[in-house]
Amino acid sequence: MRRVFSSFDLVAVHHARNLLQAEGIRAEVRNDRLASAMGELPPAECQAEVWVLDAGEAQRAERLLREGPPACGPPWACADCGEPMEPQFTQCWRCGAARRA
Ligand SMILES: [Zn+2]
Repeated sequence: MRRVFSSFDLVAVHHARNLLQAEGIRAEVRNDRLASAMGELPPAECQAEVWVLDAGEAQRAERLLREGPPACGPPWACADCGEPMEPQFTQCWRCGAARRA
C-alpha cells in the first residue's frame, strides 16, 4: 500500500481514485469522512488520501495523476499556425492559441 495523493478536496480525491481505476490501478480513498472531524484533529490529519494497493504501481499512479490520462482522441493541428499537436494538449505550445472545437 502506498499513498499517492492527498487533498482537502474530496471531489479531487475521488476523481484521482477514479482516474487510477480507469487505468487498471487498484486504488482506494482513505480518510474521506474525517473532514467532518475538522477542528478536533490537526488539519493535516484531515486530508482525504488515495492509496494504491500495489506499491509497485505507485510510480505509474503518480505519473498518471501528474500528467493526466494517456492521450485520447485524434491529434489536431493549430488553427493559427498549423503546428501539429498531440491530443492531450488544449493549447498550442508554439503560438499559445487555444484549441478550437
Ligand atoms: Zn499555434
